[in-house]
Amino acid sequence: MTTGRRVAIVGAGPAGLAAAYDLNKAGYAVTVYEAAPEVGGLAAGFKPPHWDWSLEKFYHHWFASDRHMLGFIEELGWSQDVLFPRPYTVVYYDGKFQPLDSISEAAKFTLRNFSLIDFVRFGMVGVFLKLTPKWQPLEQVTADAWMRKWAGTRIYNALWRPLLVGKFGEENLHVVNMAWLWARIHSRTTRLGTFTGGFQAFLDKLAGVLRSRGVELRLSSAVTGIRRRDGLGLKSTSLGLKSQSDTASLLKQTVGEGELVVETASGVEAYDAVISTSSPALMARLAPDLPASYADNLRTLKSMGAVVLVVTLDRQLTQYYWHSLPKEAGFPFLALVEHTNFIPPEHYGGDHIIYCGDYLNPDHEYFQMSKEALLERFLPVFARVNPAFDRSWVKDIWLWKAAYAQPIPPVNHSQNIPPIKTPVPGLYFASMSQVYPWDRGTNFAVEIGRRTARLVMEDLPG
Ligand SMILES: Cc1cc2nc3c(=O)[nH]c(=O)nc-3n(C[C@H](O)[C@H](O)[C@H](O)COP(=O)(O)OP(=O)(O)OC[C@H]3O[C@@H](n4cnc5c(N)ncnc54)[C@H](O)[C@@H]3O)c2cc1C
Repeated sequence: MTTGRRVAIVGAGPAGLAAAYDLNKAGYAVTVYEAAPEVGGLAAGFKPPHWDWSLEKFYHHWFASDRHMLGFIEELGWSQDVLFPRPYTVVYYDGKFQPLDSISEAAKFTLRNFSLIDFVRFGMVGVFLKLTPKWQPLEQVTADAWMRKWAGTRIYNALWRPLLVGKFGEENLHVVNMAWLWARIHSRTTRLGTFTGGFQAFLDKLAGVLRSRGVELRLSSAVTGIRRRDGLGLKSTSLGLKSQSDTASLLKQTVGEGELVVETASGVEAYDAVISTSSPALMARLAPDLPASYADNLRTLKSMGAVVLVVTLDRQLTQYYWHSLPKEAGFPFLALVEHTNFIPPEHYGGDHIIYCGDYLNPDHEYFQMSKEALLERFLPVFARVNPAFDRSWVKDIWLWKAAYAQPIPPVNHSQNIPPIKTPVPGLYFASMSQVYPWDRGTNFAVEIGRRTARLVMEDLPG
């Protein structure tokens, strides 16, 4: 059954693919435009020829509580491909790495390093945040102020401050609200999951299902404009058109009957609805027909970028999966993640894989540095986590960067979230910045993608 309605989706990340799945199932004709040569967005992977599995460019895992993602996978009939190994996390404190990823380890950590009072406060704060569903009062105060007050300065300085500074920088320490930290503690589990073959295998499999059902997936196809058809003549400059006659000829060339026009380097097509999953800043540029109030709202949403250096070694570096590295202790990046302590090296041709990851402002020098220069900057950390480390262990390096990687939620952020349904009829916007109060993740991308698809179906019933 088809509805005869045409929907364009900008972005083949988890949100775009999930929306495409539901709309296609409901009979809509769906075209997905993706700027990159592969599907997956920030969760995409890469694979040198000697690996069996692909590796996420940016470290990725699921939590056992990721019900939207795990439910979607169950619906697709692929639950048998989801694996939940038990990797271990350590934090650097008092000159050494200490385990801290379960209730018993947390109890041991606080008793070992702090007083009984600190231990009690740490436990009470943890239980409260795990149990309370009420995040709204928590968004009215910064994480810095709340944690300092309730967990106490010593615990705050040891655990939460390094996390906040590492993720958002010193400059945002007094900006990020407590609901962000609540969401992490409330919803996350110590059990971490992945898909057989890697996240890219899941996303490719999903793309295969979409293609087999008639969804048109256009890769390497960046959308350069989303316009109201009736506005084309008025604001032609935003499409890079030189004259009104260009516009008239463009209108003639436009394929389809819908009210919204999507422009790419290879032409223009009209749709009844368009869902964009780009960054807020890009959305404001792509859709010049958005009223100033909505576009300004998009521009005020702040985010951090991410830089991740992937290093393969010929042997194991540490015993742990995740090392949280406080910048105050002189570490030049936030997290050292030994992926092959999560997924065995056999899937990667015997290579041992280390991620060196950091969240930074996109004007930070790391965004300009070469992978070789970053390796020089980061390698001393390898010797700090394992004094036996020798650079002859290094086999290969890759560098991945993303300018839009981590939304920054300030106090009372719920009032800043732009609605998915934009003021332009038929135009929808669904991004990582709108899954608030939850922290961004593929689980919430699937949720917002499917929620957006439902809105389209309500507005444009078949
Ligand atoms: C360092 C890092 C670590 C992470 N770790 C985890 C984790 O452990 N677990 C987890 O679940 N999530 C993790 N995430 C978050 C997860 O990757 C995102 O939440 C998720 O990918 C968001 O999906 P999305 O579809 O909303 O956006 P994206 O994945 O960003 O996809 C948007 C897509 O739109 C495309 N696009 C943008 N503009 C255009 C245009 N003009 N034309 C065509 N295409 C366009 C982009 O190329 C991209 O493919 C991590 C992210 C980062 C950066």
